[in-house]
Amino acid sequence: MKAIAVEPGAGTPVLVEKPRPDPKPGEALVRTLRVGVDGTDHEVIAGHHGNLPDGADRLVLGHEAVGIVEDANGTDLEEGEFVVPTVRRPPNGTNEYFERGEPDMAPEGKYVERGIVDGHGFMAEYFTSPAEYLVPIPERLAPLGFLVEPISISEKAIEHAIASRSAFDWEPESAIVLGNGSLGLITLAMFEEVLEIDRTYCLGRRDRPHPTIDLIDELSSTYVDSRETPVPEIPDVYESIDLVYEATGHAKHAFETVDALAPNGVGVLLGVPEPWEFEVDGGRLHRELVLHNKALLGTVNSHRGHFEAAIDTLSQLPTWFTDEFVTGIHGLEEFERAFETDDDVVKTAVEFSRL
Ligand code: NAP
Ligand code: BGC
Ligand code: ZN
Repeated sequence: MKAIAVEPGAGTPVLVEKPRPDPKPGEALVRTLRVGVDGTDHEVIAGHHGNLPDGADRLVLGHEAVGIVEDANGTDLEEGEFVVPTVRRPPNGTNEYFERGEPDMAPEGKYVERGIVDGHGFMAEYFTSPAEYLVPIPERLAPLGFLVEPISISEKAIEHAIASRSAFDWEPESAIVLGNGSLGLITLAMFEEVLEIDRTYCLGRRDRPHPTIDLIDELSSTYVDSRETPVPEIPDVYESIDLVYEATGHAKHAFETVDALAPNGVGVLLGVPEPWEFEVDGGRLHRELVLHNKALLGTVNSHRGHFEAAIDTLSQLPTWFTDEFVTGIHGLEEFERAFETDDDVVKTAVEFSRL
């Protein structure tokens, strides 16, 4: 079978031949339909994030997949059922995080991330997985099933943000997404279309016209250009913000978020930056967090419950949004196009087989 693999940090993704995997007991064989590409894939390709599996010289990419069960292999799944795989697997047998159904809370060393950390991904014509990590999705949503994983990331982030404010009466009226990449934009759509937050903003650093700014406008959100309005100036120029969602990977934004927040607000950090040393006024930020009851939290990955919530969210996203958001579905004969980062690219996927 064909797979898309990369030598992280030293090459571009290439098509390779691999044997079709055989499902072990408890595993199903899945025929891959589509696999999405996100900023993390680009970080993996560049060698900035992730690890090769033991003994491998190339990593099969892909962690945002949707497929169809080809061989249920005696599991509870049914052949022909559409499924979305979760990303993390236990490295050796199992551990307490996986037993609790909270692999997203496992520390380094206690998980493998398929397509990212120590494990091959889903960018292959077939993959196998224990059935417990395959989440069924209705057929009508399957063409966009590759959006479930990124939405699940935000389901978790929002759940943790709300939980951090659950000790008092808190309802966000304003929210900003820092970053107009694919994760930022789909989260903005969740804020607008599903959570119905009154006033939303999205920060980028692009000139109009730009497809991502068009999407921000069409979502009735306000575009904030970070070159004109740096994050700490957002309260003066617009308003102080109840919920800040950082999806730029720009390390200064983690600290600047504290200044953008309204009293009692929460900032969730998603970006995975490279090491970068810079000066911050730690005393002022510490004081600001304390005296205004602000919270800052990091969040990574997601578990099965977040995938189930994400499937529900996907069903609520308007078609006009997903039509404009997904700018390319590329077959294997032109898979390289899914990794292009031209100005007209928002979200892409590779199609391994037709629905
Ligand atoms: P992406 O497509 O690279 O998006 C990042 C966006 O941020 C880009 O549009 C970029 O704009 C913008 N940006 C960067 N620096 C900026 C600045 N100083 N001012 C304004 N905008 C700025 O990546 P993605 O897939 O959306 O993911 C976003 C981040 O989240 C990445 O770091 C990724 O690794 C991380 N992530 C984390 C999780 C998790 O579980 N925590 C899950 C998925 C992704 P330009 O294009 O103009 O540079
Ligand atoms: C993936 C997550 C993963 C994170 C860190 C993200 O792009 O969507 O599943 O945990 O990267 O590797
Ligand atoms: Zn991702």
